Amino acid sequence: MSESKYNPFTNAQIQFDKVAEILNLEPGMRELLRQPMREMHFTIPVKMDDGSTKVFKAYRSRHNDARGPGKGGIRFHPDETADDVRALSMWMTWKCAVVDIPLGGGKGGIVCDPNVLSPREMESLCRGYIRGLYTQVGPNADVPAPDVGSKPQHMLWMLDEYETITGAHYPGMITGKPVGMGGSLGRTEATGYGVVYTLVEALKAAGTDITKTSASIQGFGNVAEYAARLYTELGGKVTAVSCWNNTDKKAYTFKNKDGLDIQKLVDIKDASGSIDKEKAESLGCEILDGDSWLSQDVDILMPCALHNQITPDNFGVISRSVKFIAEGANGPTTPDCDDLIKDRNIFMLPDFLCNAGGVTCSYFEQVQCNMNYFWDRTEVLNKLEYAMTKAFKAVYEVSKEKNLYMRDAAYVIAINRVAEAVRLRGWA
Ligand code: GLU
Repeated sequence: MSESKYNPFTNAQIQFDKVAEILNLEPGMRELLRQPMREMHFTIPVKMDDGSTKVFKAYRSRHNDARGPGKGGIRFHPDETADDVRALSMWMTWKCAVVDIPLGGGKGGIVCDPNVLSPREMESLCRGYIRGLYTQVGPNADVPAPDVGSKPQHMLWMLDEYETITGAHYPGMITGKPVGMGGSLGRTEATGYGVVYTLVEALKAAGTDITKTSASIQGFGNVAEYAARLYTELGGKVTAVSCWNNTDKKAYTFKNKDGLDIQKLVDIKDASGSIDKEKAESLGCEILDGDSWLSQDVDILMPCALHNQITPDNFGVISRSVKFIAEGANGPTTPDCDDLIKDRNIFMLPDFLCNAGGVTCSYFEQVQCNMNYFWDRTEVLNKLEYAMTKAFKAVYEVSKEKNLYMRDAAYVIAINRVAEAVRLRGWA
């Protein structure tokens, strides 16, 4: 997806191979777990508003379902590739395993720019995705959800298409639905909140008072927004946010050393789809280039955008003040950067632990749909905080016990759980 020499699927395999070696996994198990078990590549023709037909490329990858149905979002992005989807589905397997929910890993993608499609074209694309895929998804097979570029309304169109084809109601077929239509309260904020729940535990473990910390965030989509909201509510100071600007087609970093007003930035974003430079200036923000989020003198970096953002090429710009990296995005750090982070003694909260709040809440959504009884927001968020805290503590303990880097410790737990399920099923 990013113009980078790094391929996310290769990155995911490098991370896996390293820990497979630590665990001394048997060769057949390694071969099974280092690639998706099943993938679909197909095209979706859409009649556009101007009367022409446009053909969109679509993917769904189910990496592993030994622990339960595949689970993972659908990404709408113009640069989406099969390898992105493969990597993301693999990371979903580890994500569900590390938080110990009974689901496997899946991911989907459509090569498209949702910003330029009309609502009618979007609906047609969403329905076409399900028509191409309905034999492969379902509440007990593979359960999609939102990801970059996709929203609750898209999930509902997909559900409606699935239910129209199958002739019955299957609310657990997809998650991230609108509240009132089978969606869970708390799902919108779940991923960002989960980032902060794990960060709070990391800060406690390091003896750091959150109210004395500052953070710089890459991205200002759903994950970044709710991470910023909760972090500031708890007393932290977000001094920089880097965000894509739809008009200029480039990213800017918005900075205020006294702390950004997150609500006001959200208001600007909600009004126009991205943060307008002039409006940000009127709030007292300094406007810097898009990469500057990485070189800020802060305690915490939260990469909450796309993959391959922190590499050995730009690692040097990270300030010595940085003591924590909380990976809200999937795969934001390349594998060859992990040793540099470790050497600097930066506390790493790896992606598939740190951003597992979204899928954990998706699981709660499925549970509520199955019961046809919905919890209030506080109940959802309490359960989410409990699950994330428990997962963090387990990973931290393994990292201390076995003297492992946090990412490797998270992999040890996740891979062991999946490998055990594979063995018990008699697959390897
Ligand atoms: N797209 C989110 C992720 O990458 C959520 C997936 C889900 O809820 O299934 O974790």
